[in-house]
Amino acid sequence: MSAGRFLLLETPLTEDTEIELPFEVAHQARDVLRLGVGGTIRLLDGAGGECPAQLIEVSRKRVMVRLGAREEGLFDPPVRVTLCLGMLKAAKFEVALQKCTELGVATFVPLLTERAVRDEVSEAKLRRWRGILAEALEQCGGSHMPELAAPQSLSQALADLPPGGIALFPWEETREPSLRVALEEAVAQAGGIEHMHKVRLFIGPEGGFSPAEAELAGRHGARLVTLGQRILRAETAAIVASALALDALGALE
Ligand code: SAM
Repeated sequence: MSAGRFLLLETPLTEDTEIELPFEVAHQARDVLRLGVGGTIRLLDGAGGECPAQLIEVSRKRVMVRLGAREEGLFDPPVRVTLCLGMLKAAKFEVALQKCTELGVATFVPLLTERAVRDEVSEAKLRRWRGILAEALEQCGGSHMPELAAPQSLSQALADLPPGGIALFPWEETREPSLRVALEEAVAQAGGIEHMHKVRLFIGPEGGFSPAEAELAGRHGARLVTLGQRILRAETAAIVASALALDALGALE
């Protein structure tokens, strides 16, 4: 049983090749997991592939591994869920990134909305957020690295709705339908779950979406839905909406 899973985005995982582990992964394997020669870890290429890697050299200077056969990762949902999330205070945004990656969200779009707390994201912040996605992927058993898009305005995110997909817009001022009912109706219209490949979820920032933004979403064909009578914090709403959508489409089975 391999001890740890590590994402190596830049390294081709070719069977029977020997590679030197990057510094951080070497540290994890040697000092944290305390593995020696003969120990095994799993390496992910982030595009659905993973392979066992046996430690063949372990020293303070470096850790070398020999790669086994590449295997297709098991636990990636058949439906692509994109979460468009209003820009929250960083810590809350990062909680949503981590939890929704664990659940199986495929793409994250930071949304610039009327009431968003910030209107830009530094490259350093985007690097940190990609690190959070990578760690959550390694931990949850998934093998497709989620995509982190550059921040978009609400109208941009509404404009490029994928064909054949559905856009769901939870808005706290909506009484009905629930997200589950809206998704069931969309699945029935599409002729079954197997025909529903893309779902785009929109979650507002701490201050919520404005009525004008909800109206804009409706005009673009997004379905306004409720997540119940309680007003959820934005990061909670992001996790709940993602779980409901993935579950309704059979991805949490
Ligand atoms: N002020 C709170 C906060 O600090 O997080 C509330 C934020 S606001 C309600 C966040 C977003 O979560 C909303 O724009 C909406 O997308 C979603 N949301 C929260 N509760 C909801 C509900 N009961 N029904 C539909 N959407 C909801």
